Amino acid sequence: METSSIQKLNPRLQSVFGILTPSDDAEIRKILSDIDVMLLEFAHFFGSNHAGGGGTGLDLVWIPSGQIKISSFVGAGLDGDHIVDFTVSLQPTWFYGDFPTEQGWEIIAEINADCQHKVYCGNMHCVYELPSVTCTHPVDAAIALRNMTADLIQLGKNKPIEYWLQLAGDSHS
Ligand SMILES: [Zn+2]
Repeated sequence: METSSIQKLNPRLQSVFGILTPSDDAEIRKILSDIDVMLLEFAHFFGSNHAGGGGTGLDLVWIPSGQIKISSFVGAGLDGDHIVDFTVSLQPTWFYGDFPTEQGWEIIAEINADCQHKVYCGNMHCVYELPSVTCTHPVDAAIALRNMTADLIQLGKNKPIEYWLQLAGDSHS
């Protein structure tokens, strides 16, 4: 998996969105930049100054099997075994191996927490998923990513880290 900061490297977005008009490209970059600001502010809420693998918010993430997406995460934690990751992604609908007949993008947000099982399994567990959204226009997809990021941040600020951690424990297996 390769991860690069969209803010730092300003990569071509056609790899995710297909053909873009210059005005759509500019509008999407503006929205992605807004999301970077939101993610960094959310990281500050947890006393951190970085979001995503590149540290600046949204990353372009691609894997050797050909899938590519725009994604980020904010990590919060009490200590090394009590980490909660808040993740957002925008990915083409072909990401999971099917053959959609129209262009589309799926927006996903989820909360993953370090295993708190009595018999430690070593995984992070997905403890919450926001309802995913599918868009058929690139600008709409970017707007949906911004909206879902705002919803995820709201959730993250409204509940203590302990709430998400206990969902990754035995009483919720
Ligand atoms: Zn576990």
